[in-house]
Amino acid sequence: MIDPTPTTWLLRGGRVIDPATATDDVMDLEVTVGGPSAGVRRFRGSPIPPGTVVTELAGKVVVPAFVEIHAHLREPGGEVSETIASGLAAARAGGYGTVLVMANTTPANDEPSVTRRMLAAAEAAATGVRMLPVSAATKGLAGREPAAWREQVEAGCVAISDDGKPVHDRRILREVLAAARDLGVAYLSHAECPQLFHGPIHDGEAARRLGVQGIPTTCESDCVQAEIALAEEMGARIHICHVSTTASIAALRAARERGVRCSAEATPHHLLLTDDEFLRRGPDTSLKMNPPLRPAADRDALREATLAGIVEAVGTDHAPHAPHLKARGLADAPFGAIGMESAFAVLHESLVLRAGWPLPVLVERMTLGPARVAGISGGRLFEGAAALTVIDPNARFEVRAENFRSKSRNCPFEGWTGQGRVVGTLLGGSWTSSTAPGGV
Ligand SMILES: [Zn+2]
Repeated sequence: MIDPTPTTWLLRGGRVIDPATATDDVMDLEVTVGGPSAGVRRFRGSPIPPGTVVTELAGKVVVPAFVEIHAHLREPGGEVSETIASGLAAARAGGYGTVLVMANTTPANDEPSVTRRMLAAAEAAATGVRMLPVSAATKGLAGREPAAWREQVEAGCVAISDDGKPVHDRRILREVLAAARDLGVAYLSHAECPQLFHGPIHDGEAARRLGVQGIPTTCESDCVQAEIALAEEMGARIHICHVSTTASIAALRAARERGVRCSAEATPHHLLLTDDEFLRRGPDTSLKMNPPLRPAADRDALREATLAGIVEAVGTDHAPHAPHLKARGLADAPFGAIGMESAFAVLHESLVLRAGWPLPVLVERMTLGPARVAGISGGRLFEGAAALTVIDPNARFEVRAENFRSKSRNCPFEGWTGQGRVVGTLLGGSWTSSTAPGGV
């Protein structure tokens, strides 16, 4: 659709949505790559500079490239499931221009040599996607000794998290919250009470029918309440990852009303699926994730809170696991689902087309929302280097994980069909067409 080499593009006639500037209008955009005038500007019909490549985008939607606040790219140590190169290619296919990557690699990203190795791999992959590492909170994610937070931030980490595990020791958690506050970075909490964590799925009807132990909602919400209370006492800021229960949302809402600086993200799977999926599909391990899929009441509360902005960000918790790992059966397979290549399409179909969400709200939760709560640049169309995603709201899609750039196939939306998908990205100075999550 767009010539890959020029330095100036004129994108004509698309619907431009940029939440940072409250823009939602059909307009022409001039995109310049390189030089002092690099960036995206509204084009107001003056003579088209020579050498400009003109692209007609009537009927398409131009948005800031999405910001993924929560992904696991598995490198170093888990390359059988994903590499930084394959993960960033998956991100780009899904319309993401920035990806925060979690520290539960092997070794864990708890010191600058790991961060530097990851950043070098991202640069070598040359996907145009900006990868931002998250530092472990504790050495080896073991919850006992502090990671090298200041050195990690100096090496390029933008947040602190032991995601995958809670920081259970209150003394260490105090230190982590204080360090995040003093270093001006976000603390991303994987809120979970270890003593309540049993079994592979939610503690409900599906668990009983499958004859497995279940994880109660209090496993998450008790920890959310306790951590918010600690952050409040310390005057620190806290971000809750992948929130999934009505009680967690109530705690967030109440804290925000008291002025506590807390935020949260929702995953596409918690927004769109419930544990009833197990009754329909049996013990499908692509539905096994942590926190687990919850009942409809929790899903509905999460939707309402995300629409209302109590939950400000959508993050996929992209968690690749190679097929042989997910083939171990429901009890033994690892937790997690991949998400970046299907996120926009399934959310657009379910929330915008079927549930009536305004498209700019969904765009905001995937761009400015996550950028703001992570305290990073990006997710803003008219700031910084050009990073934009083009959506065709009328294009059909069918989710077929076999077509994904990700090395893994554990997608809970396999077989979903609908309308509206990412058709391309302009990142790192180049245009790439995309058919995520697979054209039909
Ligand atoms: Zn987590």
